[in-house]
Amino acid sequence: MPDSFDLIVIGSGPGGYVCAIRAAQLGMKVACVEKRETLGGTCLNIGCIPSKALLQSSENFEEIAHKFADHGITVEGIKLDLARMQARKGEVVSANTKGVEFLFRKNKVTWLKGAGKITAPGKVEVAGTTYETKNIVIATGSDSIPLRGVEIDEKTVVTSTGALELESVPKHLVVIGGGVIGLELGSVWRRLGAEVTVIEFLDRILPGMDTEIAKNFERVLTKQGFKFKLGHKVTGATRTEAGISLSVEPAKGGEAQTVEADVVLVAIGRRPYVEGLGLEAVGVALDERGRVRTDEHFATNVPGIYAIGDVIAGAMLAHKAEDEGVAVAEILAGQHGHVNYGAIPGIVYTWPEVAAVGATEDELKAAGTAYKVGKFPFTANGRARAMGDLDGFVKILADKTTDRVLGAHILGPDAGHLIAEMVTAIEFGASAEDVARICHAHPTLSESVKEAALAVDGRPIHI
Ligand SMILES: Cc1cc2nc3c(=O)[nH]c(=O)nc-3n(C[C@H](O)[C@H](O)[C@H](O)COP(=O)(O)OP(=O)(O)OC[C@H]3O[C@@H](n4cnc5c(N)ncnc54)[C@H](O)[C@@H]3O)c2cc1C
Repeated sequence: MPDSFDLIVIGSGPGGYVCAIRAAQLGMKVACVEKRETLGGTCLNIGCIPSKALLQSSENFEEIAHKFADHGITVEGIKLDLARMQARKGEVVSANTKGVEFLFRKNKVTWLKGAGKITAPGKVEVAGTTYETKNIVIATGSDSIPLRGVEIDEKTVVTSTGALELESVPKHLVVIGGGVIGLELGSVWRRLGAEVTVIEFLDRILPGMDTEIAKNFERVLTKQGFKFKLGHKVTGATRTEAGISLSVEPAKGGEAQTVEADVVLVAIGRRPYVEGLGLEAVGVALDERGRVRTDEHFATNVPGIYAIGDVIAGAMLAHKAEDEGVAVAEILAGQHGHVNYGAIPGIVYTWPEVAAVGATEDELKAAGTAYKVGKFPFTANGRARAMGDLDGFVKILADKTTDRVLGAHILGPDAGHLIAEMVTAIEFGASAEDVARICHAHPTLSESVKEAALAVDGRPIHI
């Protein structure tokens, strides 16, 4: 008789593996099904971790090549060893995925190797064996959205997966899609020497993020050498001897033009991944966008089957998936697991970084909410001056009457770390005045957050 479990989680990404560990901590007998050779899902294998490894390496390269001289440090004979850079990325990924294996052993979570298929509520088939379980959590994540007329080969026409594996620096990289993934990976290859053109259907980059921040970010990236073709769509790609020839048209209609590239990155978004799970036969309902439909307790319409992470509605972010993994495990243990979707930060790990939490100004306007704005530029921050990182600003949005913080948006050095304070503020229902009255160490970038909070009330000190 094969083992039976209290919980089988399908997928070992940040949603699935965290859910499995939390459930085991709570005393459940847990298995996690993963068809990939290594644990950790998209995030650890082909997403967050390898992209951040390459972003760090390429930023180091750019600093030495272009920024050190200003500090009085001259380095001659700088050379790029891309093979080593890629090998290091592989080592970082491997250390992380092995770390999850260790955590599974430590928490006695069984890794069922292979593709999982739900054959009935309480039954999961893996590699020809059917396992019984009280509950099932679907955490199968997402996959890149393909673009009609542009065939992916992961060598010259790539998704993010191929863009993380390039063996030489492209001369001209065309990125289709001006979202987070396209701009991060575009940054990696631009820093290493590629000319980078971003073609985006909308007339702005970073859809969904604060418009003012996105406009300023576009200016900063243009200064760094990015070229943008906004309001344009790619309608087809043909392979030529020199590379790829893209046909590009204005989004609103008009004459087509040709753009030549030697590598094309298709980064137009991700879609939920449910292939081979057998959901139709079991009757698990999907929504209009192919996501597993869940209620506020992550339950699908079939009793005993739950879903979390990229495969359900909401931001496709690793930390959102993790928090849902913890919440559903706690709910299954009879506790009150909960995720505050109003306090999930979103970060673009370029340099400068972009970070946001809560409502954008556009959203507050659309909702008719009366609000106040406080802004503070990094040009007026002593630490930013010392670092030589002056691009960007902090923007805090607070309710006009109550002063409660509704949103925070940062373009600037280390924005991804700075935003944590504002996540805490929103989680605790803080006012801008609360943030302004907290002592912030000097000289730190975080003083810009305090100053922006002071600016909400029109009384910043340093500007
Ligand atoms: C290039 C890139 C960079 C990113 N950077 C960031 C970032 O910096 N920060 C951030 O928050 N997010 C980032 N993301 C998004 C993040 O990776 C996802 O939001 C996150 O991985 C979702 O977690 P998940 O657990 O829902 O699914 P996934 O991580 O996608 O994991 C799902 C797993 O399920 C497995 N699986 C699927 N079907 C089956 C089956 N039937 N049986 C067995 N196993 C199965 C898959 O093999 C996969 O390993 C990035 C994504 C990409 C592509």
